[in-house]
Amino acid sequence: MSILDKFRPLRAAYDSVRLAGHDPFAVRFERVLSPTEGVLQGRTVLLLGTNNYLGLTFDQNCIQAAVDASLQTGTGTTGSRIANGTYGGHSKLEAEIARFTGKRAAMLFTTGYQANLGILSTLVDRDDHLILDADSHASIYDGARLGSAQVTRFRHNDPEDLARRLRLLNNKPGHKLIVVEGIYSMLGDVAPLREIAAVKREMGATLLVDEAHSLGVLGSRGRGLAEEVGVEADADFVVGTFSKSLGAIGGFCSSDLEGFEDLRVACRPYMFTASLPPAITASVTEAIHQLETRPELRAALNRNGRHLYEGLSAAGFALGPTPSPIVAVRLPDTAQAVACWNELLREGLYVNLALPPATPKGEALLRMSVSAAHTPEQIQRAIEVVTCVGYRLGALGLPAAAE
Ligand code: PMP
Repeated sequence: MSILDKFRPLRAAYDSVRLAGHDPFAVRFERVLSPTEGVLQGRTVLLLGTNNYLGLTFDQNCIQAAVDASLQTGTGTTGSRIANGTYGGHSKLEAEIARFTGKRAAMLFTTGYQANLGILSTLVDRDDHLILDADSHASIYDGARLGSAQVTRFRHNDPEDLARRLRLLNNKPGHKLIVVEGIYSMLGDVAPLREIAAVKREMGATLLVDEAHSLGVLGSRGRGLAEEVGVEADADFVVGTFSKSLGAIGGFCSSDLEGFEDLRVACRPYMFTASLPPAITASVTEAIHQLETRPELRAALNRNGRHLYEGLSAAGFALGPTPSPIVAVRLPDTAQAVACWNELLREGLYVNLALPPATPKGEALLRMSVSAAHTPEQIQRAIEVVTCVGYRLGALGLPAAAE
């Protein structure tokens, strides 16, 4: 008996996907040429499976800021802020995030995952309640598991179910922290945040909004869904990540609440891990500047999302409920999703294969995401390739003209 034997069923499931063609969990880009193109096995492929929403990974100003910061301050901080000190770049970025999200203060985390892990495990205690949307990201569930609060799930994007569950908790002591996301990462659907904020107010709960996929994407200034629907004052805590629209890595939480800074000496995933390196804090600070001064990026992103969604919808694919920069093609089963994913790669299109348990309701998805950097021609090509592959592999019926 090996200590690793328990992973055998997992390996068998993984093998059945892997042996059908390329290994979707070990794709290796030999080179990345731009936000929209990479080289795989010697061939250039169109990237339609990133979170590079604004295309800032190759922005010359962000790159230069990272280079300058590395030359001036070194490659890494070699420790945590609490033990090894805060760098100027951390404080500057925290001030920028606080200003940008319209909150009094912000705390940096080394990843977005750690932001949720840290905040959710620390804010609420044994006598408190976490009320999570059922389709929450793994980092939210893991934050709940690391902490000791009692966890209640409500039906995905269902404010009435949320209200019902809060009513059931009404006579129980403790704080009630509601956690929702802006745009959900698998199907690209958007939280009914105005209604959720109304429930929060009515029930006297606290609200955390994870804007990981909506920051830089929604809102007149790109601040996210809360800005888009006018409920920023109701978001007591905003969580976000630097790994998507801001093109780097890292995460944050911002808040107006008095005492927020105390989390710096209470939140273990903040205290006991190394802080972000100078190159990252500098490039993210510059990326926020780009986001704010180039609204045309957001317009191009949303145009591209609509173009892809409408093209695939017109072709007859079952998609997520609304156009967004994340467009998911829903397929009947894992085998067909794996086959389509492999065929798309052969045709020069890289998308994400999203399978249960990572997907809501155990769906098999081809998750695509667009960037402001995609040209209309690239989006059109993607629609044509996905449609051809869909017909060829029976994921779609015959086109009307051929019937
Ligand atoms: N929250 C949500 C909603 C996410 O989708 C993700 C990443 N996909 C994270 C948090 C974690 O962010 P990061 O990958 O930057 O750690």
